[in-house]
Amino acid sequence: MPADIRSKALAAIREYRVVVLTAMTTPGGDRPSVVEAFVASSRLGADGLGHRVRLDGGVWECSCGAGGCGHLLATQLVTKHAPTPTTAKGSS
Ligand SMILES: [Zn+2]
Repeated sequence: MPADIRSKALAAIREYRVVVLTAMTTPGGDRPSVVEAFVASSRLGADGLGHRVRLDGGVWECSCGAGGCGHLLATQLVTKHAPTPTTAKGSS
């Protein structure tokens, strides 16, 4: 996972740009198996308003078509599908 995708994903979460529209967890599951989310763009106009991310049948899809993008990772982080990074605070 490239660091820039990770930092993009974290920035999207920090800036409240990740909106989870649907998250369905099967009984006994610890994380949703069906997810639908919208990740707003950091720069309006650069690539439209944002992108839709879906998880269905174990397959992740993002409307940007890039695959392995920051939109996907941001959604995976907020739905417990990716390990939350330990934030290094105060390192100068
Ligand atoms: Zn994407």
